[in-house]
Amino acid sequence: MEVRGIKDRMTEIKAIRGFNDILPGEIGKWQFVENTAREVFEGFGFSEIRIPILERTELFARGIGEATDIVEKEMYTFTDRSGNSLTLRPEATASMARAYLEHQLHSFDPVAKLYCIGPMFRYERPQKGRYRQFYQIDAEVFGVDNPMVDAEVIHMLIHFLRRVGLERLELQINSLGCRECRPRYREELKGFLTKRSFRLCEDCQRRLETNPLRILDCKVESCQEAIAGAPKVTDYICEQCRKHFDRVKEYLAMAGLSFILNPRMVRGLDYYTRTAFEVISYQLGSQNAVTGGGRYDNLFQEIGGLDIPGIGFAVGMERLVSLLPAGKGFVQNPSLFVAALGDEALKEAYRIVSQLHLEGIRAELDYEGKSLKSQMRRADKLKARYVLIFGEEEFKRGRAVLRNMETKSQEEIPLQGVLNTLKKRIIGD
Ligand code: AMP
Repeated sequence: MEVRGIKDRMTEIKAIRGFNDILPGEIGKWQFVENTAREVFEGFGFSEIRIPILERTELFARGIGEATDIVEKEMYTFTDRSGNSLTLRPEATASMARAYLEHQLHSFDPVAKLYCIGPMFRYERPQKGRYRQFYQIDAEVFGVDNPMVDAEVIHMLIHFLRRVGLERLELQINSLGCRECRPRYREELKGFLTKRSFRLCEDCQRRLETNPLRILDCKVESCQEAIAGAPKVTDYICEQCRKHFDRVKEYLAMAGLSFILNPRMVRGLDYYTRTAFEVISYQLGSQNAVTGGGRYDNLFQEIGGLDIPGIGFAVGMERLVSLLPAGKGFVQNPSLFVAALGDEALKEAYRIVSQLHLEGIRAELDYEGKSLKSQMRRADKLKARYVLIFGEEEFKRGRAVLRNMETKSQEEIPLQGVLNTLKKRIIGD
């Protein structure tokens, strides 16, 4: 069927900027990444949780922090018909923490290992690798502050990325201190940067007051110059934070993981405390952080007034998928195409294809029964592995030709028992 005349009747409607369709040709990669995540995470003792896409704005404002880029300028916030301020989730951790509290998951077991896969929404300037709707795979552990868990979560992440097939990965870690020791560092950094404030971009001038640590993360060149020689957070962390960080490093080494200490890595969200980490892929360009995460022992305080520790990470799926090798194995082509000429042959083709579908075998036919030549062209375009050809003459003799499209070899097979023959060929090799 040709799609005709739609343009004459109305202007074409396009997707919103920064919102992508994931088309059938690409979906194989996405499914592979998601399936691998499920397999690896479940193996590490994590369970899936599905949380709503909409939450009360307050959850993110309090959880992520008012003075973060996300809350200040990137949230999709609107008022619903009842006058409630709602926000499309910009990340999953705050919602997962809310669900953990709301359903008292801690009363069953204080330790909850959860993961969640789905779309997030941020009003950022769209560019390659940066979208307004994007997908994340999140994993979080609530209820344990032992550094062993920090290492375990990072270990799981690296294992997952390797299983997906990523290479040239670099794990960077840092400690951001805690409520006790970070204020001292914050003041020290603020003092240092105030002297160089003339070099800071407009955003960072403002951050100097609201959130000076975020300046360390700014990509603007003059800001990068301004922070050269800035005090390092790890020189200011308290004894407990230092011990925690040392143990994390020890456990990472026990897992055979190498890492780079990056005292400039602060992560975008306010709630992080102590361990912060990012995994960089040198296969990517400027948006080279595939994933990042960290410990957030204050988040639960902000949203529920409880002292529950947490640690986790979010992997950006678009960036991960873009790193997978093209083509092979990810696109699902039909195993069989049945090319049939004439009504009777077409009916038989339909019977065979329906039976194969019940067996989970991807099989196609041409519903219009066009010329054999055009059906063969279509089979070729769809990259079918085999084509079963019902030429009129063979069909009358109760036979068909089975063509292996890869080797181009052909054999004549009897229609009697054709399903078994096909299954043997398709599944058997
Ligand atoms: P964040 O939640 O900001 O720590 O981001 C975690 C990961 O999500 C990043 O490392 C990216 O891979 C991905 N990510 C964040 N923002 C976007 C975006 N706007 N578009 C695509 N991926 C993103």
